[in-house]
Amino acid sequence: MRFVANFKMNHTRASTLEYIDIINRELEGFECQNVLIFPPATALCEGKGKVEVGAQNAYFEEKGAYTGEIGLEQLREFEISKILIGHSERREILGESQEFVAKKFEFFKEQGFEIIYCIGEPLSVRKQGKEALFEYLFSQFTNIDTSYENFTIAYEPIWAIGTGVSATVEDITLVHEGLKKEFNKELLYGGSVKLSNIEEIAKIETVDGVLVGSASLDAKEFAKMVKKA
Ligand code: PEP
Repeated sequence: MRFVANFKMNHTRASTLEYIDIINRELEGFECQNVLIFPPATALCEGKGKVEVGAQNAYFEEKGAYTGEIGLEQLREFEISKILIGHSERREILGESQEFVAKKFEFFKEQGFEIIYCIGEPLSVRKQGKEALFEYLFSQFTNIDTSYENFTIAYEPIWAIGTGVSATVEDITLVHEGLKKEFNKELLYGGSVKLSNIEEIAKIETVDGVLVGSASLDAKEFAKMVKKA
């Protein structure tokens, strides 16, 4: 079972380093896969012990005139080789088109990065039924090389992100089964995963791991989730 934490625009460098130490202390002697965290760009650092570190975002160039962005050169400084691509907050709030997302995927694929690729539908699409749902989700794979070995799909329905209301076991199973059949990749679920629902979600057969936002911010709570699952 994979545990992935997306800090979004939370935590500083100091608190991220402290977070890593707490996770390592809390999980000492506990048999589990490494935890992967995505801190903000200013807090990127090397992984340590059971904690691996990835980038929430980066531009698809080594370096250059891209004001406000970071690229491969900045990631290499911390030996970062994992990246989150396609998160709905970047698609919806920052206006990343599928074409842009696909360019990013292609670039980091060429670099051999592990890509956690996020997809998810808004509530309006979910309400239109199964056919519309899958049509929407599959459109988020346009120009994505799904034969790339080092990528994981994170299904994150937009209506479940940060709302406190997770998708149901049936919702997750329906989508995951469709994705497994089509792409046969490792699958994560994300959207209001927390201490009170982690057991139920972890039991779903197609769930290989979880991507957690709000409930990952407190290291002790997050370690409790790992232990509970
Ligand atoms: C996310 O944004 O990736 C996420 C899963 O957020 P939350 O857990 O807060 O719903």
